[in-house]
Amino acid sequence: MILVTGGAGYIGSHCVLALLEKGYEVVVFDNLSTGHIETINKLSSIGQNKLHFVKGNLLNPNEINNAFCSKIDAVIHFAALSQVGESVANPDRYYRNNVIGTLNLLDIMRRNNVNKIVFSSTAATYGEPKYVPIDETHPQKPINPYGKTKLAIEGIMEDYDRAYNVKSVRLRYFNVAGADSKTRIGEWHDPETHLIPKILKSTFQGGEPFKIYGTDYDTKDGTCVRDYVNVEDLVQAHILALEYLLKGGNTDFFNLGTKEGCTVKEVFELCKEITGQKISVNNINRREGDPTQLVADNSKAKEILKWTPEKTLRDSIKTAYEWEKCLDKTIKEANR
Ligand code: UDP
Repeated sequence: MILVTGGAGYIGSHCVLALLEKGYEVVVFDNLSTGHIETINKLSSIGQNKLHFVKGNLLNPNEINNAFCSKIDAVIHFAALSQVGESVANPDRYYRNNVIGTLNLLDIMRRNNVNKIVFSSTAATYGEPKYVPIDETHPQKPINPYGKTKLAIEGIMEDYDRAYNVKSVRLRYFNVAGADSKTRIGEWHDPETHLIPKILKSTFQGGEPFKIYGTDYDTKDGTCVRDYVNVEDLVQAHILALEYLLKGGNTDFFNLGTKEGCTVKEVFELCKEITGQKISVNNINRREGDPTQLVADNSKAKEILKWTPEKTLRDSIKTAYEWEKCLDKTIKEANR
């Protein structure tokens, strides 16, 4: 049995789906603060009796312990607060939820003799890059509290391995995009802050006009460069990491990205082409804390985990668009 914290959220739910499709039995632990019960219901209808849901909070050790009532072989830990801007305004919530929540989880794991964990880390732990593509030896100097909480957890995991033999794989995500290719689940944040869903939402009736944050960066068209990795590809890396740990692999960390950088304007043009819609755009000031470019060197994950991202940015935008159309309809019907 695999325990997935944050399994009602965007990346967590796609990982649960992939685990169920591979025949794993899964316990999802989630407080539904940003995840959705509708996602759990959808996963339950797919997973039938192989999906168990425990509602609970990582700040409550007793609630975490409830998720360990069956024998857990390993944990995949997604549950976290993940908005950079919000972390700058409310660092207390971020340190408490992300760092103390993870410490609680690790301690309950030890109490239940579970010593394998795959952890959602982030490219935000690198901060402003000194070079691109960024490999795993690049210095980690996060520039916002969100990245700092994730780096603190990475350090805790190193120490828990040394002292208590808890083995971890920390996966440093670049920009995750797309949705389930059968449109059963997808990205559902409220409010939405991410580039691709924001562009797509602006094509719907009542959608807000799309804004580009900064056109004066030192890049080919003046807009920021990011490495967009498809969510279905990304979750496959989690399954490979899980299986690596189940086979006795050592604590390690990997970048998950495609090695391809794309500007905001390029993403916007591709969205226009795929949706066939005219999308109006406003160029506004830079958003605080946005590095100019983030592109992954993914050679280590390729070599050790044997992970190869297969889907293109076009694939991600297409599946995200199908999902956004569904979500828009569901939300508008619910508000009627
Ligand atoms: N971005 C933008 N307009 C938006 C949202 C994002 O121009 O409405 C830009 C943002 O400045 C960044 C890129 O799109 O350069 C990706 O932002 P996102 O929030 O999706 O991911 P992040 O890189 O912050 O993890």
